[in-house]
Formats: sequence, C-alpha cells, structure tokens
Amino acid sequence: MTEHLAATLPGLAPEAALAALRAAAAPYDAPCREVPGGLAVEIWGGEVRLALTGGAPALAVFAPDMRILFVLQDALGSVFEAAGCAPVWDRVDEGALAPGLALMRVVSVRQVSPGFRRVRLAGPEAARFGAQGLHFRLLLPPAGQPPEWPRIDAKGRTRWPEGAAALHRPVYTVRALDGAAGWIEFDIFVHEGGGATEWSAGVQAGAEVGVMGPGGGWVPAAGHVTLIGDETALPAIARILSLLPAGVQGSAHVAVAAEDLPDLPRPDGMALHRVEGRCALVPALEAVEVPAVDRFVWFAAEKRLAEAARKVLRARGLGKSEMMAAGYWAAEGEV
Ligand SMILES: Cc1cc2nc3c(=O)[nH]c(=O)nc-3n(C[C@H](O)[C@H](O)[C@H](O)COP(=O)(O)OP(=O)(O)OC[C@H]3O[C@@H](n4cnc5c(N)ncnc54)[C@H](O)[C@@H]3O)c2cc1C
Repeated sequence: MTEHLAATLPGLAPEAALAALRAAAAPYDAPCREVPGGLAVEIWGGEVRLALTGGAPALAVFAPDMRILFVLQDALGSVFEAAGCAPVWDRVDEGALAPGLALMRVVSVRQVSPGFRRVRLAGPEAARFGAQGLHFRLLLPPAGQPPEWPRIDAKGRTRWPEGAAALHRPVYTVRALDGAAGWIEFDIFVHEGGGATEWSAGVQAGAEVGVMGPGGGWVPAAGHVTLIGDETALPAIARILSLLPAGVQGSAHVAVAAEDLPDLPRPDGMALHRVEGRCALVPALEAVEVPAVDRFVWFAAEKRLAEAARKVLRARGLGKSEMMAAGYWAAEGEV
C-alpha cells in the first residue's frame, strides 16, 4: 500500500472511538483485528488503524491509491463527526475535486435498440473505470447552468453543490470501454420521467459530465454463476458475461423486450434466457437449479423485487458470500 494519511481525534474517549470504528466496519463485513494498543480494519483494499495509547486516539490510514485514500478520509470524517469529534488530519486537499470524480465529455448518444440509448464519454481517466467496480455515479448539472462539481472541504469531507446547483446523480454500469483510446460507454434504459432519459435526448456532443467511481461490485467468482435481472441490470449482465472465464457454467435470465436483447457474447457453458415481464423474475429465481457448492447467484432489479429475491436466496440456503440481490431503482407505484 503506497498512500498514507494520519489524524488525531481530540476530545474523543478511547472506548467511543473504538465503538464508532467497529460499528462503521460492520455493514461492510470489513475484517477487524485487535493490534497492540488498538484496532486495525481492512477495507476497500486499504487499512485503517486506530491507536488508543498515548494522548488523543489517533488514526493511520493506508490505501492502494489516492482515490481510495481520500474516499476513506471522507468516510472516516463522517463516522467520527457522528461520534462528536472532527478528525484533525495531517493533510487535506482542500478545493480538489471529490475523490473518484472524473470530468468527461459526451462523444455520442445513439439509440441501440428501441429501449436503450448508448452514451459514449471521453476523458483521460477512462481506463480506471475498467477495474475494481462495474458501476459509477453519473453527475448531471441542472439544465442550462454551468456545472458546479463536488469538492473536498477544509475538513477533508466532500461538499456537494446544493439548491439550484444540485446535481442529478443516477448510477450506471460501464458497458464497454477502451482505456487506451480514453472512452467509456453506458446504456440508458429509456423510461418515462427519467432525468437521465431526458438528458440523453437533448445533450450535445462536447457537454461536460461528472463520472464518479468505479464501485459496486465486480464479476462473481465461482464455477457456477446465475445472473437474473430486469432492463436496468441488462448492461451489468452483458458486461459480466463478457468478463466471465471460459469454463464457467450457469445461466442468465433477463426481463426485457425481445428486441432489446441481443445474443450476448458469453462462455459456452452460460445459457441466456429472456423472461417475460419483471414479475416473472422472482419465480425464475425460485425455479433455477444451482449446485450445492462453488456457486454464485446475482440478482438486480426493482427494489421490492430485490427484497423478495433476498428472502428466496436465504430460504434456498445460500450464504452471504454466494449471493447478491440489489435494488437498482425504486418504482413509485406497481412494479
Ligand atoms: C449499481 C447500479 C447499476 C445500474 N446500472 C444501470 C444501467 O446500466 N442502465 C440503466 O438504465 N439503469 C441502471 N441502473 C438504474 C438507474 O440508476 C435507475 O433507473 C435511475 O433511477 C435512473 O435515473 P433516471 O434519471 O433515469 O430516473 P430518476 O430521475 O432517478 O427517476 C425518475 C422516475 O423514474 C422512475 N424510474 C427509475 N428507474 C426506472 C426504470 N428502470 N423503469 C421505470 N421507471 C423508473 C422512478 O421511480 C422515478 O419515478 C443502475 C442502478 C444501480 C444501483
């Protein structure tokens, strides 16, 4: 690990510092180990060490790159501010763009099928969106206004533009990229009332957007893989299928219109099925056969369907490391 930051936590009791760090690590299942005089937490490829000997509790943060380092600084600021103490850092890049934020230009928008628009963005940081995470947050400034981008403040926290300058921030999936040529592509499922749908209908080549990430999981690592999802998951399913190693067995099931589902490149052992309607996704999950070991089941769709899928997966005996069920959007009415 090459990058490093340090901070003190003035006025915070050692037990409170320990409890705050343990509680913050829990939702990520981040491994915690007791070390002489403190605690070490492994997270996002980096490590946070809390030292409780001597004066005020102190933090040492190690990360594989600057992006993860400053993401950790922001997250730890939030954790300890909630515990009543603002960390005092040895270094703050005040005024810099928020960690992980790349500014890119729109190259093209084209309708690739009746339900999907493909957007190509170009920028010098394109290559880093091809590893460590499949997804990113698209930052769209309000129409007709010069963009104001999130930046690091004096405390090392990310400050987002607010009010009339607030950004629209939907999450998308990298569908394809060429790091050497400096572009990424993503597919927007066109739906009524969508801010990104509306943006993609009117945006001109050359417009500047923010792209924050990557994050949100990678290709499942198992000998047998099942992928199930709705239209919003199709780009992720397509990308995962293209990245799975040759010998993997399993199947993909997508609830999407027939004309929106091309014959996706995939390993010979992966079958591809179209599912008729989103409501058939959970029954498809209930029916699919999965082996007892060396398996991964991946499900992404509307939030309530994902909740139902999680219950099915638990009832079928899959452990946390063998499954993912993610809500990709929230329907206001019926799914
Ligand atoms: C990890 C992850 C990866 C994702 N990848 C993709 C991707 O590659 N391509 C993609 O198209 N989407 C993807 N999504 C889903 C996308 O982020 C949401 O659909 C998001 O709401 C789209 O923003 P918007 O500006 O179009 O709509 P918003 O302005 O956020 O929402 C406006 C209205 O549209 C409704 N709405 C939102 N999504 C849908 C939908 N799919 N169908 C019908 N109504 C909807 C909302 O309920 C709301 O009423 C992903 C989500 C996650 C969490």
